[in-house]
Amino acid sequence: MDELTKKCIEKRIDIILKEFDFEKRRKEYPEECPCNGIGPCHNIEDLNCFFCYCPAYDLSKPEGGCKIGNPQGKGKWFERLGHEVSDRIWDCGECTYPHQKKIIRKYLWRLFTGQFEDKI
Ligand code: SF4
Ligand code: SF4
Repeated sequence: MDELTKKCIEKRIDIILKEFDFEKRRKEYPEECPCNGIGPCHNIEDLNCFFCYCPAYDLSKPEGGCKIGNPQGKGKWFERLGHEVSDRIWDCGECTYPHQKKIIRKYLWRLFTGQFEDKI
């Protein structure tokens, strides 16, 4: 990939990240946040809302799961009592992985370039 294309893609990614910054979204589109009125879903610096829903969540099983091995070690099984499909469900409530800019940048880079190595 030539340098101009690379710069162009990086610039677009920067624009997306800026657009999905939590503070910006909170002011401009508060109604779009499932936590609207309660606060951000996670108290981390530079929370980014691009992946409100984690792309690594495993939807192939009724109980869910983490397709990438729970990178922060904060996901856990939530035991459900009396549920018909499964007695447990994968709970990502404590994991901030999909809300970090560097992670989103990595996913977008892969999406735009098809390159799976960590370029950024
Ligand atoms: S990522 Fe969190 S703070 Fe952002 S829109 Fe989704 S629930 Fe709200
Ligand atoms: S939020 Fe964290 S634990 Fe949950 S699926 Fe994504 S990376 Fe895995």
